[in-house]
Amino acid sequence: MGKGFSLAIYPWVYTAKKMEDDNWEEKYTLKPHKTPEEEASMTEEEREKLLASRNSFPELPLVNYTTQYGMGCFEGMKAYPQADGSLKIFRPDDNAARFARSMAGLGMPPFPEDIFVKASLELVKKNADIGFRPVYNPKWEKDNFLFGESVYLRPFSYAEPGIGLGISHEPWVVFVGAPVGAYFRPGNTKARVSNCIRAFKGGTGWIKSDSNYVVPILEKKRAEAEGYMETIFLDAEKHKYVEEGSSCNIFFLLKNGTLVTPALEDTILPGITRKSLLTLAQNLGVKTEERKITIDEAMSDSAECFVTGTAAGLGYLESITKDDKTAVFNSGKMGELSETLLKTLKGIQYGKVEDKYGWMQSV
Ligand SMILES: *Cc1c(COP(=O)(O)O)cnc(C)c1O
Repeated sequence: MGKGFSLAIYPWVYTAKKMEDDNWEEKYTLKPHKTPEEEASMTEEEREKLLASRNSFPELPLVNYTTQYGMGCFEGMKAYPQADGSLKIFRPDDNAARFARSMAGLGMPPFPEDIFVKASLELVKKNADIGFRPVYNPKWEKDNFLFGESVYLRPFSYAEPGIGLGISHEPWVVFVGAPVGAYFRPGNTKARVSNCIRAFKGGTGWIKSDSNYVVPILEKKRAEAEGYMETIFLDAEKHKYVEEGSSCNIFFLLKNGTLVTPALEDTILPGITRKSLLTLAQNLGVKTEERKITIDEAMSDSAECFVTGTAAGLGYLESITKDDKTAVFNSGKMGELSETLLKTLKGIQYGKVEDKYGWMQSV
């Protein structure tokens, strides 16, 4: 396997198993590892072997409702290194609440929110204690933390054995952490509208479920092959209203100064970054609207456009193409409001801007 493909999960992992008596049996496991320095100096082959052993969970069944039918959900959140040497997680309570809703939405017993938050903090701490953690670098401040590093936390559900059609009643919940750098690199930020459907009324679009990712991943790869970075999904019925990016929410700053994002319906994933940016924009005195917005209005009336999610925070889009029409925003450069919001969000996350909403939780 080539460089860059290896998934470097941290040595400490967390699992919880739903028991018959309604309790969750929790376990922290220390997987094979060396020191981060020793691991960095290993040959690629040795390192791949070690990382593969870390990503092996022999107690989890291979054949189950998750691997066979996509009956699973997950979360994505980050812990950010702070200038004082500590690590803080951004709004884990919100991820906990969404994960519980997702599990319930897939017919599973919801994972208790308090256990979720405790496990998140504890896992980051355990890995940091053995040296697996990013360290704050003041150089990141120059580019709005575009090159900032953080810990990515990935909690997910995993069903009990089964091959018939079934719903998981006694799932596992697994948490792993991994180091991440910047997601969006400067360069191409063009988007094109997809003719495919991501979510439909009565479906699972509001759940952070495995199955929702199939069409967006295929479409994003097609868009990339066509020279775009992102693809935008419209509503299933009229193919007229903007819904989301491939795995991110979307915002338009209209030329009249109003910041618009599609209202939450069952076809839209309630992003925590989305919610946070609405708060930050309102605090700046920007008028915000959560409503339906047609692709025609978005393309003809927008001064700025950006997508949001835990991975990138905020990623501006330079243009949107639909059929043979292209709308370019702010001459293809990041707009003023986009930049202010990005700076404020990243500033809060890395501890450079006052966290007046109490979003950051210390590990
Ligand atoms: C995770 C996700 C988002 C972004 O949510 P955040 O909480 O901001 O990370 C947006 N859309 C979809 C489809 C997602 O899965």
